[in-house]
Amino acid sequence: MVLIDTHAHLEDIKDLDGALKRARKAKVLAVITVGSDYETSLWALRNSGEHSSGLRVYPALGIHPWSASSINAKDLDALLELMHKNVEGYVAVGEVGLDYWYRDVRRNPEGRELQKTIFKEMLRIAVEYGKPVSIHSRGAWRDCLELVVESRVESAVFHWFSGPRDVLDEIIDRGYYISATPAAAYSKEHRSAVKNAPLENIVLETDSPVSYKGEVAEPAHVTRTLKAVAQLKGLEEPYIEEKTTENARKLFRI
Ligand SMILES: [Zn+2]
Repeated sequence: MVLIDTHAHLEDIKDLDGALKRARKAKVLAVITVGSDYETSLWALRNSGEHSSGLRVYPALGIHPWSASSINAKDLDALLELMHKNVEGYVAVGEVGLDYWYRDVRRNPEGRELQKTIFKEMLRIAVEYGKPVSIHSRGAWRDCLELVVESRVESAVFHWFSGPRDVLDEIIDRGYYISATPAAAYSKEHRSAVKNAPLENIVLETDSPVSYKGEVAEPAHVTRTLKAVAQLKGLEEPYIEEKTTENARKLFRI
């Protein structure tokens, strides 16, 4: 049995080599490292491949909604070029999306339009190259889903989904996925989403190095996500492990 951490920001992990070794010991076979802007997307491309521990790192490229308001035209062009020129080099477009709770957007409503413009561009690339999309949708769940549907994206995962039930139901109806994080152990909204989504539509992740209850996450902690999902579903861990790994392989074609 093996686990896949489908969403992490490896460039931000302090002792990355040690973290990947610990992950491999924890049965993590692969990690998808997502970009947030040009620099981190480039980092993801350059640092993917097989680690000495045997763990495999796969890159996803994109602009995080938090970077949407600060990215300059030069970096945006450079990222687009990177995405067009390395089509075979990355497994997904991400982390992309909308975040209406982000401070810049709260202060400046035009920020929403900026996020939408960039998100649409990212979705267009995903459709052009048939890539799955890793989506950040905090506070913007309905708009995110609508843009994804409008752009006719074939496969998508609504990462760490904590949105309302009606949006979740539509995500599922359309055959998209949500991902569970270690917050599935305690966050009311996230637990409700994981509980209500069929196992066929769930993948596991850590969003490392995010802190959960004050503890910095690393990919090995995907075992905590597994445990929380198993508890919520009332099913054995090995079964959840098998199904969610199968889902991740199918979604990211890895
Ligand atoms: Zn993330």
